[in-house]
Amino acid sequence: MTSENQELKKAGLKVTLPRVKILQILENAGERHMSADDVYRTLLDQGEDVGLATVYRVLTQFETAGLVQRHHFEAGTAVFELAKGDHHDHMICLDSGKVIEFVDPVIEKRQHEIAEEYGYEIEDHSLIIYVRPKKK
Ligand SMILES: [Zn+2]
Repeated sequence: MTSENQELKKAGLKVTLPRVKILQILENAGERHMSADDVYRTLLDQGEDVGLATVYRVLTQFETAGLVQRHHFEAGTAVFELAKGDHHDHMICLDSGKVIEFVDPVIEKRQHEIAEEYGYEIEDHSLIIYVRPKKK
């Protein structure tokens, strides 16, 4: 059994060809943040006959099952990334669209302190910083 099959079963999802293919793409992609359209185009390049509607449906099922995280980096475009791995935040370059992942212990700590000041504890958070290359 392939690792994709095992992961699908562990997530409580039935093993289907589109699910296995899409999980493979997310795992092997050089770019860790892919839109549904990126996934669809990669499937086409591989000669797979999977429609865009199926790609959307499978990605949403993956999200519900906790396999992937959905991010809204720009208005209207959701990107998906595998949910495994450590927490990180994102920086998006508005000129190139490049996605930079980072973790800053000071930011992490401050967020907890701020939530606490308001009488809360953090369940989850997402921080996206939009940037442009620094002018020399
Ligand atoms: Zn990321």
